[in-house]
Amino acid sequence: MSYLLRGVAPLGGEPADLLLDDGRIAATGREARVAGATVVDADGLVALPGLVDLHTHLREPGREDAETVASGTLAAAVGGYTAVHAMANTSPVADTAGVVEQVWRLGRDAGWADVFPIGAVSVGLAGEQLAELGAMAHSAARVRVFSDDGQCVHDPVLMRRALEYVKAFDGVIAQHAQEPRLTRGAQMHEGVVSAEIGLTGWPAVAEEAIVARDVLLAQHVRSRLHVLHVSTAGSVDLIRWAKSRGICVTAEATPHHLMLTDELARSYDPLFKVNPPLRTADDVEALRAGLADGTIDVVGTDHAPHSREDKDCEWAAGAFGMLGLETALSVVATLMVDTGRMSWADVARVMSVAPARIGRVDDGPFAHGRPLVVGEPANVVLVDPAARWTVDPSALSSLSKNTPYGGRELTGRVVATFLRGHPTVLDSRPATPVGGGAAR
Ligand SMILES: [Zn+2]
Repeated sequence: MSYLLRGVAPLGGEPADLLLDDGRIAATGREARVAGATVVDADGLVALPGLVDLHTHLREPGREDAETVASGTLAAAVGGYTAVHAMANTSPVADTAGVVEQVWRLGRDAGWADVFPIGAVSVGLAGEQLAELGAMAHSAARVRVFSDDGQCVHDPVLMRRALEYVKAFDGVIAQHAQEPRLTRGAQMHEGVVSAEIGLTGWPAVAEEAIVARDVLLAQHVRSRLHVLHVSTAGSVDLIRWAKSRGICVTAEATPHHLMLTDELARSYDPLFKVNPPLRTADDVEALRAGLADGTIDVVGTDHAPHSREDKDCEWAAGAFGMLGLETALSVVATLMVDTGRMSWADVARVMSVAPARIGRVDDGPFAHGRPLVVGEPANVVLVDPAARWTVDPSALSSLSKNTPYGGRELTGRVVATFLRGHPTVLDSRPATPVGGGAAR
């Protein structure tokens, strides 16, 4: 099947036609015509390379009541993603070649987006013994990103050994920066709001102390460090400093840390409970500035589905985490593009090109984050930059409904997603998965 995307604006530039044929971008420009191609009227739409998430919790194996590989990758496709990296904190933990290969196969069978499993750094995420990093790297899943996300690799000796170990196969350690001894019992950001409403505070320094230590460790062993969900102005400063010294560090901000503040905790609604916690307006502004100036390399969703019983409860009993895949592009468009702080080319950089490069999935026949030029894999998302829509939790494709944006109006909406030339999403609705969806 071929598709002719007529009048689309690649990266928001001059309108052109894009011909997708046989899984690749076959022609561009006004001369792109082929007999038998399905014509998609893309007038007024922006084309970006398919989005790549470095930080997705798919919950399978173990919590299929909250999300499955199939439901999570469907949500990803609806959000404009053609690839997601699946976090390792499943049950069992993805700390062996067997588990990462299982997740990789589930993704391939579902057919909504490419799934690249992340391997655990430590056995069982316990932070004591290094997991089988080499076996996971050399498995069919070809793991390059390793993380104990949900937990911090807080032992500096283990962190050093992990950073050293992954150099052999060009891997990266993605750190969840949280000094556990500074966050015992913590429920929300430590500051004015936590003091006023009486919830145990989670200080910024609990994150910043680990970021500072780890950029120095990465410098010492000359390895690659990626800092997950940066949430404080101090962390942005530390990463800016590390990059100015030539340290090989990359950093992520989530859509929710870019948009929301700790003021939302006054509702005591666990929908706004997340790890790391929502911070202050000053932190939010520092993250937006860091994203615009390149200090923050990527927007990662930290899509964290939770079942109703884990969120419909008192704040203290609620699980940490919020959905992100189906709203991330619109949040970034609303905050950064609509305000003139970033271009669509910048969005492509932080949501596709950089995450694909950091995850080392930017090469070969299954490559992502590639330029929209002839010969490249046809991983493309079409966005209506002028659309305004209101988030309806019940309309989401995820099995869980714990979005913090319910009732909010956002600008910019995913219209269609193509995975190697196959439409997984058309008219902002799921189409069909690659391979016909035997697994759904
Ligand atoms: Zn985390």
